[in-house]
Amino acid sequence: MADILLIEDDGAIRTALSRGLRDLGHAVSSSSTAFEGLRLAVEDRPDLVVLDLGLPDLDGVELLRMLRAVSRVPVIVATARDGDAEMVPVLDAGADDYVVKPFSAAQLDARVRAVLRRAGEPAPAALRVGGLSVDPRGRAATLDGAPLDLTPREFDVLHYLAARPGEVVTKRQLLTEVWQLPYGGADKTVDVHLSWLRRKLGETASEPRYLHTVRGVGVKLVDPS
Ligand code: CA
Repeated sequence: MADILLIEDDGAIRTALSRGLRDLGHAVSSSSTAFEGLRLAVEDRPDLVVLDLGLPDLDGVELLRMLRAVSRVPVIVATARDGDAEMVPVLDAGADDYVVKPFSAAQLDARVRAVLRRAGEPAPAALRVGGLSVDPRGRAATLDGAPLDLTPREFDVLHYLAARPGEVVTKRQLLTEVWQLPYGGADKTVDVHLSWLRRKLGETASEPRYLHTVRGVGVKLVDPS
């Protein structure tokens, strides 16, 4: 059982989900606006937040960014809008998972349990590949001792690759494992993030050091020394 905060402006959905989640053993508090939801998320410290993207007073993605600036509470986004263009910014802003409306309390409960299971796993020690260090506990990476300024998504990609040094990782694998988009997602999304990451590592595709593209297959992170 978890202490869940539901931020949803639709009264009928809010009531049905609250009841359904309580029946499944969770404690549920709720808010119909973004700002009250943000206050409750910070003050009441729930185990998990379910956030509707379409709120009257603030865009859900904006709220997610504000929440992420002050809290690492797991967030599942509820959206009526599916697809890459909608979901990539949401996941980049720090959502842990999402559900597409309409969904049942039982479906949401399964996502809640999966997200909390992941959040509760002890983070492993920092990974090292050459001069690169990737620390999942502090979510910080350094290159030759200098901190890298990475977005949450870039960090996740780098961490995934650093856990598999020398191994070719496909874009599909990254979409499934890092973006959590097993059935959707465009390769271009991965390409864009890889090119940003490459720039931050101070290298180019034509002269790679750590990040090597394997044409037509994927990418691998190698120790250049
Ligand atoms: Ca709504």
